[in-house]
Amino acid sequence: MSGNYRAPGLLIQGQWRPGRHAMTMPIINPANAQTLDTLQLASRDDVDLALNAAQKGFDTWRQIPAHERCARLERGVARIRHNTEKIATWLTLEQGKPLAEARAECAMAADLIKWYAEEARRTYGRIIPARLPHSSMQVHKLPVGPVAAFSPWNFPLVLSARKIGGALAAGCSIILKAAEETPASVAAMVDCLHEELPEGALQLLFGVPAEVSDQLIASPVIRKVSFTGSVPVGRHLAQLTARHLKRITLELGGHAPVIVCADADIDKAVSMMVTHKFRNAGQACLAPTRFYVDRSIESRFTEQFIHTSHDLVLGDGMASDTHMGPLANARRVAAVRDLVDRSIQAGARSHQGKRPETGFFEPVTVLTNVPANSPIMTEEPFGPVATITPFDTIDHAIQLANQSAYGLAGYLFTDSARAIQRLSERLEIGSLAINGMGVSVPEAPFGGLKESGYGSESGIEGMEAFLDTKFIHHCT
Ligand code: NAD
Repeated sequence: MSGNYRAPGLLIQGQWRPGRHAMTMPIINPANAQTLDTLQLASRDDVDLALNAAQKGFDTWRQIPAHERCARLERGVARIRHNTEKIATWLTLEQGKPLAEARAECAMAADLIKWYAEEARRTYGRIIPARLPHSSMQVHKLPVGPVAAFSPWNFPLVLSARKIGGALAAGCSIILKAAEETPASVAAMVDCLHEELPEGALQLLFGVPAEVSDQLIASPVIRKVSFTGSVPVGRHLAQLTARHLKRITLELGGHAPVIVCADADIDKAVSMMVTHKFRNAGQACLAPTRFYVDRSIESRFTEQFIHTSHDLVLGDGMASDTHMGPLANARRVAAVRDLVDRSIQAGARSHQGKRPETGFFEPVTVLTNVPANSPIMTEEPFGPVATITPFDTIDHAIQLANQSAYGLAGYLFTDSARAIQRLSERLEIGSLAINGMGVSVPEAPFGGLKESGYGSESGIEGMEAFLDTKFIHHCT
């Protein structure tokens, strides 16, 4: 079996055990469409067991002082770092991204949990000057309770680590339902942490997504929900949590604009954005997708962008010369192909690179002459597709960028203070990188506006999402 790959069990009540659902799921290597192993899914009884354990795990974990929680998480992080090669190899086999990207993702996941672990020691409340003599008024920050979290398959380690790190650092227990397509890498990461934790503090499920989320969200044990994925599923989970009056954080993808002004360093913008665009075959919520380029430099930019992106080597993520791997599953191939075809029918001109014949590969695709209302401009591509459109003035660029229903990340290339000021203020997005690509780091909030969801992960805002606020007025 490839790289000693094994589909994991479920982690429930401190034990790895096989799921007892009648259904199972094959885990497919997207680079060659071969089955790696079969995943056993959680039954209703498995989920009930996890819910009971999550309550007990919370009661124990919340009592452990923040210093000790921090130390235990840091020991888990050290173990993740020590096991990087195994975790990254399994990630590449089940998800397709190049091994170097998988290693970087593992490092980023470790970094995220480390940052949250340190932050556990800084969950300060505050003292308010008291109104009455011999009294005190205090604001306390307390863990919200057991958390149900749902992470997707595109960055399974990082997107799980954001939820695991925040919940555990805050003193919550967490049941993570990670994506069924990419189970082994997440399970290996979770295993590194769970050895340090009381039973039920961290549990991992794979199942039929709608069954598991319905059951978890309806349970009175669960006090907070966190989801990263698509808009339709996010909308559905928001309705479920509203019915049960539970807090939810939603990160639902993006369609990031990139504004390249006339004074931009074109070489730098192209080299940085080609790397960022085609990382993980474009399956990233913060991937740059809609390029708006000042008309005076548009043809030079477009030519350089197409040339550089067509030089990328596509192949199996385990091969050392691969720049871009396959899409994660056959579903994504069909979706990206359909979106590109419909956009070409709507009038866009396509510039496609080559792709390997076997496996779930899609070529690097650059679309120009794209009508504003064509499907690629309104639907999230979530694949190796970029559009390039000229703009005439900064106001025009702002109008084009803001016409998307998404509002997650954006990128700007210019040294003009005036352009930076206006775009920073008026772009309807949650994060903006100027002359760079760093929109997601552990210590800064990451979250979207409009259909990209609500709430932030990472940063102090991410920690706050797992805390309740309690006011205590003490009179003597
Ligand atoms: P999908 O809508 O079927 O699923 C998206 C994610 O939600 C998956 O991880 C899936 O396991 C999970 N899910 C589905 N139904 C669920 C339910 N009822 N309860 C809980 N979880 C549920 O889409 P897909 O084919 O897996 O991915 C396609 C689209 O999803 C992409 O085009 C992209 O827009 C979006 N997506 C976004 C992110 C992100 O980082 N924001 C990540 C992955 C996918």
